[in-house]
Amino acid sequence: MNSIAIFCGSSYGVDSSFTEIARLTGQTIAKQGKVLVYGGGRSGLMGVVADSALEAGGQVIGVIPQGLVDRELAHPDLTELYIVKNMHERKTKMSELSSGFIALPGGAGTIEEIFEQWTWAQLGIHLKPCAFLNVDGFYDDLLKFIQLTTDKGFSKARFTDQLIHSDSIDDILKQFERYRAPEPKWGVQDREELVRLDQADKNFG
Ligand code: AMP
Repeated sequence: MNSIAIFCGSSYGVDSSFTEIARLTGQTIAKQGKVLVYGGGRSGLMGVVADSALEAGGQVIGVIPQGLVDRELAHPDLTELYIVKNMHERKTKMSELSSGFIALPGGAGTIEEIFEQWTWAQLGIHLKPCAFLNVDGFYDDLLKFIQLTTDKGFSKARFTDQLIHSDSIDDILKQFERYRAPEPKWGVQDREELVRLDQADKNFG
C-alpha cells in the first residue's frame, strides 16, 4: 500500500473539522512514507491535503485536466504534476497510480470519484480498497443509503461490506494493509491491466 489517492472537496466546507482532517491526512500519508495522489489543485481541502503532505516531507503527485488548471489552481510545488486532457483521463490515471482510495468530505465531484473506483472494484477492473473518512458523521447518511442498496437487492453484500469507513485516517490505512478484495462480479476483467497496475504500485515502493 504505497500510494494513496485522496478525493476531497475543492471547497473547504463550513466546519473547521474538515480542514483539520485534511491536514492530518496529508501529514499521516507523508509520515508513513506513502505517496499522496490527488487532483493536483490548490483549492479547498485538496490544497490543504497536498500542502500538509509536502510540509511533512512527503511525495505528492497531482493529476489535473487542462481545463481545470486555472479553476482549481494547479499546485506549482508538487513532486510531479500530470496535466491530462479531461476528467476521464484524470480518474484513470489516478486509479493507475494508487493502491487505495479515500474520500474525505466533499461534494458531487468527490462522491462521483470514490463511487467510480468502488464500481471498478466490483467489476474487477482493479482490486483495490475504497474508504470514506467519516469525520463528524459527514458520510453517515450516504453509508446508510449504500446499505439500503444492498438491503433492496441492488448491491451484493460482499461489496458493501468491503467498503471501509472510519473517522480515523490511521485506522483506514491499517485496514488497507489487511484488505482482501472480494471476488469481482464477473471475475477479474482484464488480467493484463491488473498486472500493469500492480507494476505501477511497485514503482512507487
Ligand atoms: P467537489 O467535491 O465537487 O468539490 O470536487 C472535488 C473533485 O472532484 C475536484 O477535483 C473536481 O475537479 C472533481 N469533480 C468535480 N466535478 C466532477 C464530475 N462531474 N466528475 C468527476 N469529478 C468531478
